[in-house]
Amino acid sequence: MHKITEKERLNEEMTRIEVEAPLVADKIKPGQFIVIRMHEKGERVPLTFYKKDKEKGTVQMIFQKVGKSTTELDTYEEGDELLDVVGPMGTAADIEDYGTVVCIGGGVGTPEVFPVAKALRNAGNEVIVISGFRTEDLVVCESDFDKGCANEIYITTDDGTYGREGFTSDVLEELIADEDTSLDLVHAVGPPIMMKVIAEITEEHDIDTRVSLNSIMLDATGMCGSCRVEVGEQMKLACVDGPEFDAHKVNFEELMQRITMFEEQEEEAMERWEEENGGCCR
Ligand code: FAD
Ligand code: MG
Repeated sequence: MHKITEKERLNEEMTRIEVEAPLVADKIKPGQFIVIRMHEKGERVPLTFYKKDKEKGTVQMIFQKVGKSTTELDTYEEGDELLDVVGPMGTAADIEDYGTVVCIGGGVGTPEVFPVAKALRNAGNEVIVISGFRTEDLVVCESDFDKGCANEIYITTDDGTYGREGFTSDVLEELIADEDTSLDLVHAVGPPIMMKVIAEITEEHDIDTRVSLNSIMLDATGMCGSCRVEVGEQMKLACVDGPEFDAHKVNFEELMQRITMFEEQEEEAMERWEEENGGCCR
């Protein structure tokens, strides 16, 4: 069992939890993820780690409420226990001194990008963070990047209520157009459509780009194949071969189709859970 040592609702959609998982905290590296199971009847939920504390033996995640399992997870409070916290899963992000790296996070992709940006900065890179949200109320993690792990940070909101109005890709295009800045690598995590647009822009300008793919994972150990993605015309498993891949080789169209393939069952599961729980509590 893994006790929840902290829980903080960051906004209407996103919650930060810290859980006891000493073995995971000891081993997990930027870019890797964990899989949680709340209880015996719970499904396996992959979440990227956001922060870790080896001494306390804890890992933190920020999750967005999108359906049954994440809504149920949000009913857990400090002191409650999760049945399983399994990890580290997936491959770690390559961390080297590349030069100038742009780290892009879209929505809940921002906390996922945080440990990677920090490690890249520690490795000597100039790190530019671009982080995009739909609206001001959903902005998270801005102060993390202020604390010495980004040289520059740009926040965008789709509706212009905070930071710059527009998309993360608009800022990226401005940086590319700026003759004083030369970009060596782009690392992007967010909705597939954002990663697709970023990949198209950087391919045109020949800038190495990697993305972290959130395809649907069931066992997350390479056994079930549900997270398969086409990368460079080869079939890869996001859970064990990724989740990070060369953005210019990813078939985003297929990814976008596959992540919606269980929509009907997901809606049914949510409705059933709401009926059983009066829409709110565990
Ligand atoms: P559902 O109603 O079941 O599904 C809603 C949508 O969530 C689906 O359409 C699908 O796109 C996605 N989804 C559902 N089940 C899965 C699954 N088993 N695996 C992947 N996607 C699924 N979310 C966060 O909020 N924070 C994170 O740090 C984070 N990291 C992730 C890292 C990886 C490697 C992967 C694969 C996913 C990550 N996700 C993260 C997405 C998160 O796993 C899903 O939002 C969650 O499983 C949805 O479950 P649900 O029952 O609440 O929603
Ligand atoms: Mg689900």
